[in-house]
Amino acid sequence: MNRPSYRVTELLGDGIGSELSEAIHRLADRLPIHLEFIPVDLRVESRRTRGKAIYDETVEIINETGVALKHPTATTEESPNAILRRRLNLSVIHRPVYTIPGVPTNFRQELDLDIVRIATGGTYDDPGRMIGDDGAVSLRIVERGPVREAARYAFNLARRTNKSVTSSSKYTIQKATDGLFERVSQEVADQFPEVPHTTELFDALLGKVIMAPKKFQIVLVLNEYGDFLSDMACGLAGSLGIGASANLGFDAASVVRVALFDAAHGTAPDIAGKGLANPTAIFLAFAMLLYQIGEISLGQAVKNATLDLLREGTRTPDLGGKETTKSFTEAVADEVARRVAANAPTRADVSSPPGASPSS
Ligand code: NAD
Repeated sequence: MNRPSYRVTELLGDGIGSELSEAIHRLADRLPIHLEFIPVDLRVESRRTRGKAIYDETVEIINETGVALKHPTATTEESPNAILRRRLNLSVIHRPVYTIPGVPTNFRQELDLDIVRIATGGTYDDPGRMIGDDGAVSLRIVERGPVREAARYAFNLARRTNKSVTSSSKYTIQKATDGLFERVSQEVADQFPEVPHTTELFDALLGKVIMAPKKFQIVLVLNEYGDFLSDMACGLAGSLGIGASANLGFDAASVVRVALFDAAHGTAPDIAGKGLANPTAIFLAFAMLLYQIGEISLGQAVKNATLDLLREGTRTPDLGGKETTKSFTEAVADEVARRVAANAPTRADVSSPPGASPSS
């Protein structure tokens, strides 16, 4: 039987990036589909040598494949993430963060948040400038388009999953920028009357997520707030090494045009090359990529196998375990292959016409 085939851009990164790439290939090799990875070298040396051309090439290839998996890159002269988000028109970052039963954490409650973050603007698009020696100023940018796309994404997700949406900002102080964000969020909320929608001031939200996490399901936030909230949430869930993101760009009909998946964490230079990197976040990002290309059951197999092994105590040292990157990867890959084989259609399932009994 021909295996379905997909092209995926793979952005190679710094630090633990090469170990994570190796882990992804070992896992992908065990799937019953063919993934043709098209590598683009986004490591520091390549960026320094090739300058703007490396981004031109990256953008062109991702626009062609539609899906990409990115490994962490060191932020040096520039932030590759910020450049790619801007140049690929990625307007939404979706980061699910949840506690995994059995995985050690300082937090005693259950958390299950879908953070939907506007991928551009806020205070992140302007590095600012000094005014004389004793003052500095930077611009805070909020645009209707990306807010509307992020809000639509959040409310559609809520409709599909029967969840509520909380939009959060500092609209009482940042009246123009955060006020616009809340007005656009409300306009979109009005188109989804069946979805419960509340608004929280962002400082209060941080406290409430810690005190009463079950009250929050999907949280819609501006760029920097999403950055702060997702690291806090990953910390509550036990490690920065378990958060994954989908970075999404949409066409005029609000259909995903390009999707770039990555781990929330950075290049972890302190453990690079030591076999200690936890590949959980990149596996969860890879599972989201599989959903995006329509391989839903394979995505579920990767996600559930990874989480079940963590639950049962198969863990890397950042989560208190003894596994290396390689041994954890082998365990996940074996478990995924076992689950896929158990669910594979039999020859009779495949050849029987619809409605016919497999034994007939
Ligand atoms: P970091 O996330 O790389 O590391 C923080 C701590 O978490 C370190 O102790 C590290 O060992 C640990 N850690 C991170 N990922 C882990 C994993 N998968 N398994 C086990 N432990 C893990 O943050 P940092 O040290 O502040 O940043 C290092 C570099 O990464 C910087 O240049 C930063 O700009 C960059 N960065 C890149 C991205 C990205 O490309 N998506 C995201 C964040 C930071």
